[in-house]
Amino acid sequence: MVVTTSSADASTSDAPDLFQSESEALEKARAIRADANADAGRYRQALGDLIGHYERLMRETRRLIGRSDRAEREMHTLTQQLQYRATHDALTDVFNRSAVIERATKALRVDCAVMVLLDIDEFKKVNDDYGHPAGDAVILGIVDCLRRIVGGKGIIGRVGGEEFTVVLPGYELEEALELADTMRAAIENHVFEAPVNRRITSSFGVSANVMGTSFDTAYGLADAALYKAKRSGRNRVECTGEPLMPMAGPAAA
Ligand code: GH3
Ligand code: MG
Ligand code: MG
Repeated sequence: MVVTTSSADASTSDAPDLFQSESEALEKARAIRADANADAGRYRQALGDLIGHYERLMRETRRLIGRSDRAEREMHTLTQQLQYRATHDALTDVFNRSAVIERATKALRVDCAVMVLLDIDEFKKVNDDYGHPAGDAVILGIVDCLRRIVGGKGIIGRVGGEEFTVVLPGYELEEALELADTMRAAIENHVFEAPVNRRITSSFGVSANVMGTSFDTAYGLADAALYKAKRSGRNRVECTGEPLMPMAGPAAA
């Protein structure tokens, strides 16, 4: 029979021949039993040897099974790590763009959802004045603020360099606007790591979406509101449709 090659076949062929000495002991015991002149003592001795070989075989088999269980557990851990990396942003560990699209699309299939989009204000200056690593630390500080406020209530994703979404399934517009303004205020009041010694603000665009809305539509509406927040002076929450929230914090330092 031709057996196709698989990793299981490969590991079997690599395994030591466990049956060699056990087969020889079995053959010897059989030969003694078939020998009309052999005495009972020799036969008993051969059977004793055979039992010894079987016991060794059992020990070896258990050891090999343990080894393959360990390999399977390692493979499982590796698969989980790969899945995590494929769905999470490497810097912040929030969902990456494709993962947030997938999750938001699923959420919008079964319920209404509010899409919050935020972009850090004048972030280029942060990079220019303090350097790229300090800019990265600001991004991390902002994600900490979002996590603290959103908790398990929404899906946080990094959709661009310094642009994030928070998808809030089942939320009404009013309560989502309040939550967005809490995020805005938390970022504005956050003290960032040295050398960044200035206040950082973010602008927010919010869209309320009925069940069945596509991600692109929800995102497009939130993006339009974000654009409006930028045009209106930044550090604000704006939404599409009524009511428009004139939620402006104090002007950025
Ligand atoms: P605005 O208020 O209009 O948003 O102004 P801005 O300067 O923030 O403009 P914009 O949003 O276009 O700037 C994005 C900048 O973010 C440009 C890019 O250098 C920076 N950036 C993008 N991704 C990263 C990152 O991962 N780390 C750092 N340090 N900077 C990033
Ligand atoms: Mg931007
Ligand atoms: Mg920006």
